Amino acid sequence: MQAKELEFFKEQLLNAKEHILQNLILAQKELDQLQAQENNDDMDFASMRSDAMIEQLSSDQQSAELKEIEHALERIRNGSYNICEMCGEKIGIARLKAKPYANYCMTCRPLFEKSH
Ligand SMILES: [Zn+2]
Repeated sequence: MQAKELEFFKEQLLNAKEHILQNLILAQKELDQLQAQENNDDMDFASMRSDAMIEQLSSDQQSAELKEIEHALERIRNGSYNICEMCGEKIGIARLKAKPYANYCMTCRPLFEKSH
């Protein structure tokens, strides 16, 4: 992979990481605010806010994504970024464009999913 392409994907990953971190920080802020307003009379407002927050805090998924992004950035650093972790073949650019933190090529991805 050319340095220029690698740079492109690195940027994609850093942007995605930044986006998730912002979401997590926002969710944490909302949680703090909610706790601060615990004794507030306006319960409807509070429960409405908490629904939105829970949705945002399905951050388990975001945390998992964050880990995958970190892993991909690590792979960029050690030069194995576009190499499939299962078969060692190159992962296609098109696949990486669709999912910049893909660990497996098109062939291995379904196999990986089946075994889990
Ligand atoms: Zn593969």
